[in-house]
Amino acid sequence: MIAEQTAIKITHVKESRINQLDPQNIVFGSLFTDHMLIADCVNGIWQTPEIIPFGEIGFNPALASLHYGQSIFEGMKAFKDDEGGVRMFRPLENFKRFNISAERMCMAQVPEDIFIGGLEELLRLDAAWVPQGEDNSLYLRPFMFASDVYLGVRPSLNYRFMIIMSPAGKYYSGAPKVKVETEFIRAAEGGVGYAKCAGNYAASLYPAKLAQQQGYTQLLWTDAKEHKYFEESGTMNAFFVKDGKLITPATSSTILKGITRDTLIQIAGSLGIVVEERKVSVVEIIEGIKDGSVTEAFGAGTAVVVSPFSAIGFEGTDYQLPEITTDSISSKLKNALNDIRTGKVEDSFGWVWKV
Ligand SMILES: *Cc1c(COP(=O)(O)O)cnc(C)c1O
Repeated sequence: MIAEQTAIKITHVKESRINQLDPQNIVFGSLFTDHMLIADCVNGIWQTPEIIPFGEIGFNPALASLHYGQSIFEGMKAFKDDEGGVRMFRPLENFKRFNISAERMCMAQVPEDIFIGGLEELLRLDAAWVPQGEDNSLYLRPFMFASDVYLGVRPSLNYRFMIIMSPAGKYYSGAPKVKVETEFIRAAEGGVGYAKCAGNYAASLYPAKLAQQQGYTQLLWTDAKEHKYFEESGTMNAFFVKDGKLITPATSSTILKGITRDTLIQIAGSLGIVVEERKVSVVEIIEGIKDGSVTEAFGAGTAVVVSPFSAIGFEGTDYQLPEITTDSISSKLKNALNDIRTGKVEDSFGWVWKV
């Protein structure tokens, strides 16, 4: 419920910081655009959203989200086309998923005109911050946290929804080498694996750190029960190419339902590539790398787009994957996706949202 259907209240920056942006040298998540959006939900009623200059927000040490973790987020991107127009990619999917996460964490539902309307208004104001160039985009980060000042374990009565935006370039500099995790887990059935909630990422840091100490870039999670089936990797869904077919673990309550994942499945279909969504066992993939039937493995997500793995480490052995070429399925999918997102080809899917 919104108090009144008023337009977003806007306070402009006095002076833009756009000269801090060097499109040739972007460090992910470190520089933020001139403006941000704040909308408060007070006892179930959404107040008029405000766009104000990006900056610090004060908080009380008893802020509920700090203590019990009612905190969720989304990650999406805006692109600049050759004419300088700004476009988002499938933003309604992120909006829907945000409210699915909110429901699981017992948080307020965000109305579409605050989520989508807020993104549009911010992008109009900070359009100069959407960098042009291959692999460049503006990363959009809507998030929400419990804002009660109260130390009891119960759903907060008040929530703050915000959007901040940050220029992004390429995510990984090289091809990630991933380790099959067989001790720690990311998510169990009945848990919160399908929600983009902050705690999932806190819980993943320690196992990821151990893997990094062993020389890996990232983890490939396996199921919580048997450690036999692949789940996903970091903030990426996992894909494999076996005998020319594209294979990905079927989504469940333990896997984040990636929008990039869904997009690649649809693009692959349109390119005539056979797609299988099913259980994918570790043994199947390791044996397939050994006998040459598995030719590619990659992660897919908004931040990384399509990121081919150089090797998969399992029980102490690294299984090298063949070099990626322009003929690789991952290259074809990545190029097709980038061409649609940036407007190089006609968007026959209706995915592009022009601002
Ligand atoms: C965000 C995320 C993904 C990728 O989702 P996209 O919608 O494609 O960006 C995959 N796995 C996890 C755990 C994530 O947090």
